[in-house]
Amino acid sequence: MTDLRTIPVVAAGEERPSGGQGNLLARVFDELTAFCRSRSLFMLHYCTGCGAVELPPAMTSRFDMERLGIQPMVTPRQADILLVTGYVSTKTLKRIILTYEQMNSPKYVIGICSCTVNGGMYWQSYATAKKLNDYLPVDMYIAGCMPRPEAVISGLRELIANIRAGRSDYWRDYYRRYDHYLGNQQRLFGENWQTPTDVIAEARHYGLFGPETLGEHTALLEQHQTPLQPFEMRLGLKQDKGSSS
Ligand code: SF4
Repeated sequence: MTDLRTIPVVAAGEERPSGGQGNLLARVFDELTAFCRSRSLFMLHYCTGCGAVELPPAMTSRFDMERLGIQPMVTPRQADILLVTGYVSTKTLKRIILTYEQMNSPKYVIGICSCTVNGGMYWQSYATAKKLNDYLPVDMYIAGCMPRPEAVISGLRELIANIRAGRSDYWRDYYRRYDHYLGNQQRLFGENWQTPTDVIAEARHYGLFGPETLGEHTALLEQHQTPLQPFEMRLGLKQDKGSSS
């Protein structure tokens, strides 16, 4: 009987061994995993703009997103898809990045509405981010002002097909080119910008640490990074205790 530990498992997006070395059982297992992953997606919908009004019909009985295996999820820790549904203000973008970094990999980002593609009608606004993929890797855009539920469902179907075929692995880019994304974030939010997530350690964990993970922007982050504060300090409880004693 084959020892399962000797079977090479190929992750989605990685190349399979060539020259007939691919193991049939491993291939079947990979394809089953990709199928299950593509058909059981939890979606965190971050309703930033007007495009969000197209989600209720996409989710409910007429278009019924759940028949595709996609279900809304309220926490990033269990979500697979981050759906950004319209223009993104600078303030909101900070929360979107925090949310994205809390999601487990593999994770997928969909930008709905023209505003996520190029700023849309807010392209001249000082207060909005123009291209979502400058700050996060985006797997798919569903353009339109606003796109109809049919377009949303069609985009989700395409994402499912991409995940099943191992083509949707943009999340790896965030680790491989973290310095690039961090640089764009710093330009928008200022050089003090930081998040509680240790993205560099995660890049090492996933084996995605590369020559573009570190750079001048991660060096700047190192200078400004402050250790996480305990919960009670953030709530100001420490000062209250001190003043009452
Ligand atoms: S593309 Fe149109 S509908 Fe969508 S967020 Fe922008 S203005 Fe609103």
